[in-house]
Amino acid sequence: MSDRNDGTPLEERAPAKVNLLLHINHRRDDGLHDLESLVVFTAFGDRVRLSPSADPGLVRTGPFAGDLPDDPRDDLSLRAATRMSESFGNGQGVRISLEKNIPVAAGIGGGSSDSAAVLRGLCRLWGVDRHDPRVIEIAASLGADVPMCLYGRPAFVTGVGDKLTPISHEPELHILLVNPNEALSTAAVFGALEGPGRRTERLCGTFQSGDRSVFLQTLRTSRNDLTPPALQLCPAVGVVLGALEQAQGCELARMSGSGATCFAIFPNAAMCQDAADRIFQAHPDWWVCPTRTASVS
Ligand code: ATP
Repeated sequence: MSDRNDGTPLEERAPAKVNLLLHINHRRDDGLHDLESLVVFTAFGDRVRLSPSADPGLVRTGPFAGDLPDDPRDDLSLRAATRMSESFGNGQGVRISLEKNIPVAAGIGGGSSDSAAVLRGLCRLWGVDRHDPRVIEIAASLGADVPMCLYGRPAFVTGVGDKLTPISHEPELHILLVNPNEALSTAAVFGALEGPGRRTERLCGTFQSGDRSVFLQTLRTSRNDLTPPALQLCPAVGVVLGALEQAQGCELARMSGSGATCFAIFPNAAMCQDAADRIFQAHPDWWVCPTRTASVS
């Protein structure tokens, strides 16, 4: 068990998760969708700080703290802490400070990433192996995307999001995230989805090459099957995609997850920043965030 008597909180990054592709294969009998996705994590994200405390609780700060569920007990970060504490805490409590920088209900996995960060942090604090099957089980019980966020590295994902194949040679990508400042419920987007997608699992191997142009070329042959239903519910997604596609240097523009956040990939940080500045100038009411891929440590 790690000793943290100096009072310094333990800090964990909760990066945004970007679905570079998202293929929905079919709806299973249990209502969940069988899918395949390629996920990466960004340098930008939320932050959680954990301090052992006899008086457990959650304090939320940051630009999007006000959009979180009113009751802290519904917050995915606190739910993760409670589950971990029951299984590994030995009666110990923890105080969580959550800095909420990721827009809520935005398709970039904010809640899943927060709860995964709490799981990783408590593993460090309490000396638990984060690969322990019981930790993975807690992650899966918190949400379909939590196991991939617990892993926190580029991965090809299948099943309902629970089967991960690591992508070991992914090129660094400069990514611009843009959200029209409209929340989209994942359940509503899935509800508006029509018909099954096509299977494309053979793509996984091609992403392993480490060659940037092969990586991007393969990505262009893929899609996000949730874009049509998201567009129906939130036409602003189309305006965001149009702005990204027209930005100088844009190599690929697509929606992430169930939206409404869209992303574009650029060859370098300067072009990504330039596109961000121009888009923000034209649409000051949008959320615009230039970043790059970065895995958790
Ligand atoms: P995904 O891409 O994984 O489907 P998302 O990015 O679209 O998720 P989230 O921001 O994770 O959406 O929010 C999903 C729901 O979870 C919202 O209704 C929100 O109120 C709830 N929620 C609970 N805790 C959190 C949290 N810490 N951060 C974000 N949302 C949370």
